[in-house]
Amino acid sequence: MRAPAETLRLMTEHLGELGVPAPLSGGESPFDVLVGTVVSLRTRDTVTQKVTKRLLQRAPTPRELAGVPIGELEKLLRPAGFYRVKARQLSETARILCERHSGIVPGSRAELTALPGVGGKTAAFVLGMAYGIPAVCVDVHVHRVSNRIGLLATRTPEQTETELMRLFPREDWTGLNHVFVRFGQRVCLPARPRCTVCPLKGECEWNR
Ligand code: SF4
Repeated sequence: MRAPAETLRLMTEHLGELGVPAPLSGGESPFDVLVGTVVSLRTRDTVTQKVTKRLLQRAPTPRELAGVPIGELEKLLRPAGFYRVKARQLSETARILCERHSGIVPGSRAELTALPGVGGKTAAFVLGMAYGIPAVCVDVHVHRVSNRIGLLATRTPEQTETELMRLFPREDWTGLNHVFVRFGQRVCLPARPRCTVCPLKGECEWNR
């Protein structure tokens, strides 16, 4: 098995060769990141990007979002999965941000996870991307891919988070999510992984 850093490098290079874009273009505010992350749950990347852009054009701040009627929010969110639930969560989140946080997205895990629909995974992503606080955000792709390739042998996402934090230096933590998620969506797919083109096929436990 290669060193974890080398595995990460190969995955990153392969994504570059495939032309897979980064999920964020840079320059997003903490509010932009939070909204985009909530929209992205159970939603394809292309839909997430389209819906988030449209939503933020209509309501670029928590105060403006809090003023959007639920029916209109549902329409704006509609192509995304669970759009009705997300509309209520985002509306309530906007209200809480205005009332308790002066319209600013908080920068602590405890305050973020107190917002509707924000779990540990979303909080970790917002902390890492919006505030530069190193955090490993583990979703189904990160958990599946890291175990398939034999980097880890964990049963739960929580164990995966702990192990990835042990294997990689802090400066890699936030970026791990991007690489593993995109690799899990484009190469190491849940049902039919593209092992023949995978740069890790020679050493991957699952492929063997
Ligand atoms: S060889 Fe197949 S199972 Fe292993 S990481 Fe690559 S795509 Fe996934």
